[in-house]
Parts: sequence; C-alpha cells; structure tokens
Amino acid sequence: MKNKVLSIFTILLVTSNFVSAQADRWQQHINYTINASLDVKSNIVNGSEEIVYDNNSPDTLKKVYFHLYWNAFQPNSSMDIRSRELGKNLLTSRRGEQVQDWDARVKDRILNLKPEEIGFQNVGYVLIGGKQQKLVQHETILEVQLIQPIAPKSSVTMTLVFQAQVPQQIRRSGRDNAEGVRYSMSQWYPKMVEYDYQGWNTNPYIAREFYGVWGNYDVTLQLDQSYMVAATGVLQNPSATANAQGIKTWNFKGNNIHDFVWAADNHFKHLSKEVRKGLTLNVYFKEKDARSDSAWANVLWAAEKMLPYMEKKFGAYPYPQYSFIQGGDGGMEYAMATLIKGPGLGTVFHEWMHSWYQHILGTNESLFPWMDEGFTSYAEEDISYQYNQNYATNSPNISDREKAQIVSNNEKAKIQLPAIQSANYMSYLSLAKSGLEEPMSTHSDHYNTNYAYSSAAYSKGGTFLGFLGYIIGDSVRDRVLINYYNTWKFKHPNANDFIRVAEKTSGIQLEWFQEYWMNSTKTIDYGLNDIQATATGAIISIQRIGKMPAPLEVLVNYKDGTSELHYIPLDLMLANKVEEGKVKRIVHPECKWVQPTYTFETTKPLSALKSIEIDPSYRLPDVNRNNNKLEIPN
Ligand SMILES: [Zn+2]
Repeated sequence: MKNKVLSIFTILLVTSNFVSAQADRWQQHINYTINASLDVKSNIVNGSEEIVYDNNSPDTLKKVYFHLYWNAFQPNSSMDIRSRELGKNLLTSRRGEQVQDWDARVKDRILNLKPEEIGFQNVGYVLIGGKQQKLVQHETILEVQLIQPIAPKSSVTMTLVFQAQVPQQIRRSGRDNAEGVRYSMSQWYPKMVEYDYQGWNTNPYIAREFYGVWGNYDVTLQLDQSYMVAATGVLQNPSATANAQGIKTWNFKGNNIHDFVWAADNHFKHLSKEVRKGLTLNVYFKEKDARSDSAWANVLWAAEKMLPYMEKKFGAYPYPQYSFIQGGDGGMEYAMATLIKGPGLGTVFHEWMHSWYQHILGTNESLFPWMDEGFTSYAEEDISYQYNQNYATNSPNISDREKAQIVSNNEKAKIQLPAIQSANYMSYLSLAKSGLEEPMSTHSDHYNTNYAYSSAAYSKGGTFLGFLGYIIGDSVRDRVLINYYNTWKFKHPNANDFIRVAEKTSGIQLEWFQEYWMNSTKTIDYGLNDIQATATGAIISIQRIGKMPAPLEVLVNYKDGTSELHYIPLDLMLANKVEEGKVKRIVHPECKWVQPTYTFETTKPLSALKSIEIDPSYRLPDVNRNNNKLEIPN
C-alpha cells in the first residue's frame, strides 16, 4: 500500500459536551481452549477445542455454525470459481493496459493445487454433554444441528476435534509463502460464526472479510523445536524446552479478542520492546541482510514513536501485546498481530490500525467493509503523514539517502494541498469516473468487480472521513472518532451507529450524507458560473452539476492581498460547521438542496477580485475541479 498523506488542519480545542451514552447491544461471548500439534513434515494439524459459549441473545439457538476457511483452498471451491470468474473481467489500467480483475495472488492457482498442496479442515465430531451433534458441511461453513437447543441467556460447553492440512500459501494462510516464511497460520482452526442482532453471519469464504465472536483464547501449540512461534496473545511458558522427541510446546493466552493467528519459521529473528507499562511490541522477520534487518528494526522504532498519536486520535490500545510478523502475502490484520510481507511503514500503520476498527470496534466487514478498510486507510495516511513530518528523519535505522528523500517529500507535501496527495481521494475519483462504481453499501463478497470493491471499501471509505471533516470541521470529526470508539468498542457498530455519533457530536444532521455517500454512486460537481458587477461588489454564481449536494466554501482573494472564505451551509444540515482556519469567514444563508444555482455577493467590487475558488481545502471530493477556480485577469 502506498504511503501518502492527508490533510491535517489546526486542531481547535473544543471541550466535548458529548455525553457518552452506553449503547446497549447484546454480544455473544466465547472462550476457546485449543490444543493443536503441527507435523512440519506432512503439514497436518491435529487439534481439539473446548468451547464455552454464552448465548446472550434473546433467541433460542437450534443450530450453531463454524467457519472452516481452509476448505476454500481446493479446486472448484467457491473461492476458486469466484477468482476465475473475476479473471474474465478485463479492465483498463491507468497506463491503458488490459488487466484481469482477479487478485494477482490468487488467479487460477487454487485450481492447480495438488492433493498434498490443498488446504482442508475436517471436524471429526462436536460433543455437547458427551453427545455427538449432527454435522452438515457446506464447504467453508459447518452446520451443527443441536440435539438440545441453547436457551437465551444460557451457556453451553462444546468439545470438538479437527484435522487440517496447511495449504500451499495462496492467500493469507498457508505454508512457504513468497518470502519463504514456513507457516502463516491464519484461519487455521474451526471458528464459531458470529450470531448478532442481524442473525447468523454465515458467509462462505471467498477471500474477503472476517467477523467473529469476542472472547478469550487459551491456545497450546506443539511443533518441532527448530521453529520459533509468533502469535496472538501473551506467551505463558517462555522457558519451555522440547521433549525427548524434539517437540516444543508453546502456550499463548489472549483476552477479549475475536481471532487468533500464529506463524512459525526456523529462521525468525525476534525484536521486542516494552514501550510502556503493560504493552510490549514485537517484530518477527526472516534474517536476510543488513538493509532488511534495519528496515524491520525501524518497524519497532516507528510503532513506538507513533503510538501516542494513534491513541490520542483514535482511542486507547487496550491489549498487552502487539506483534508485526513477517508472513502471508501483503498485510493482513489479526488479533494483537499482523502478518505482513515486508517492513513498509504504510502497511505497518495500516495493519496496526485494524486493531481499532477490526478488533476493538469489530464492525461487520462483509456488510460495512468501508468502516473497517476505509477508516484504516484514512488512519494510515494520517499517521504516515505525521510520522514523515515529525519523526522519520530522526530514525537511527535509515540511511542518509533515505533521510534526504524524506526531507524532499516533506517539502513537497508543504507546497501541495494535503488532500490532493491523498491516495484515497485520488483512487475514489478514478472509481467515480470509471463507470464501475457500486454503492459502498454493497456486501463485500458481492461486488461485480474486485476493482469496485477495493476502491469503494478502502478509498471511498477513507475519503468518507476526509469529507466528513469538510462538512463538520476536522476538529469535530476528530472528536467524533474518539466518541465513536468510546461508545461502540466491543459492540459491532454499523453505519447508522457511526452517523448518530457524528450527528450528536457535531449537532449537524447527516442523514443526507449517509444516503448519498454510502447508499448511492451519485457524485459531487460544483462549478463557477458567471460573475456580475454591482455598485459595491461582485455577484458570484455557483452551479450544482453533480447530483449529490454539499455545503460550500468559496475562497475569494483580492488584489490587495486580503481574502474571505464564503461559507454556504446546506439546508439539510440544519446547522453550520465550526469555523476553521485563519481566513475570515462570511456565513451566507443556507443553500436549499433542490436549488440548481446559488449566488452571493463579495464585499469588494469586481475590479478588486484576483481569484475565486470553490473548496480551497480540497476536502470536497468534487469529480471535476476544472470548473472550481477562476483567476480574474488584470
Ligand atoms: Zn486493511
């Protein structure tokens, strides 16, 4: 992922009068005790789980479901067929090349897996009270028909055994990835499907998103002693030694999480630091060369430096540990850990930020992928910008050449307007013009193209928070982020929940914003019309060309060096945003959203005008900026 920057404006100190109402949404709860052994010759995992499941819902559950993700890595699985079908879509890249719309990591590779390379997860039995329950397997979803239903507000203990084959690494999980990491063990155990206020979330795995039940994990792993294990949670037996057969036991515990990942390799190097009382950061990577080693060391250095900023802006990191582990095939987030291909800091910040949006808030990513990937992409740009501006050149882990490059990039970032450099904005604007856009409310598995999914989830979702800053003010948007976190952590918030927090915090009505930005593909385009001279000023006329309305900010610069920011609230907001920036603001009557044009008068005559620009902050995702600015000739 590219490491670009987004706008940071003066943060106004406004005292919060937001009373953090406790959202009352019930959550299921789970405790897993997992014992598993991995044979590093056959790549077979044999395991057992004891699950204590609390049904906190008002419903009687006659069935429960498990994810068996690794069954996706078999020829003709849903994931395989989906990838090959997407490969039939030919899209045109920015360079004008024809590209197949499949994930370049997956392509048709699953179809070509040999029996010893496929993945599988088979559950032998599920016992409740000593009785075997009836199992029906639907590829990556296991249905368990219960003999005795689980009553509301009751708890049940289940025991199951499973056998799995670690697939050749295709996507995220698997053995022997491109960087040579032996085991990337994500989605490796039968995992209970989340049941929530919307029912069972039984999405078959086709390579996209995850959702889970919060609870506590106690995981014991056994494998050859030559391997180092990196995992979710806190290692309980650091001084354990191997048994007579050369097998070592690793026990990890993690609380209040909804997934568990681990990785193992016989050439892992481990760096670790207690960055504050009760929080240790770890980095695990394959030894390669001095340059690579110092880049991985810089991951730990940068993470420690940025943590205070991340917590101030996005909320407290509540877990005792976080590990950056080399593995997988890009960057993927898990509880208290990420599997990343390399030490690039954009990905490092992105994946760690998923701890907030995927793990702590735990939005249903299938239904609201943009609330996870989009918010995380926004944070990635924001944190990368802060890091580059304030810390990067002090790093002991980078060369003089890299330092010079950062200084030069930072200079450019000061000259250009911040939002223009936002990869999220740029990518959203391309999507909007591509003809392939689908509403951001589309289920993440069901977009027509991979392209439309990723641009909507990551880029339009990231642009959402930049645009929200434009509508309610950046400082208020930042308070929304904290109020949202404090109100909804560990509660699976949805899109309405976020909008309600934003409305309560800002005092601005935002239903229109939600309807247009999330549920439609309508775009924004405002343009300057004509200018007419009056005796004392100039009448500026603005036309709404796009279907989506928005409040307007118009900067008027005069030849005498003075400026005024003309603010035109949208009637649907029923309030004005806070004043931002240093330019004198003039507030005009609201614009009715039905109005195709709006006019206002400047304070100085036409002859005094130098230039006029709609949205000088570049936070409005206007699809055509060619009609936004007018320089008045002398
Ligand atoms: Zn992500």
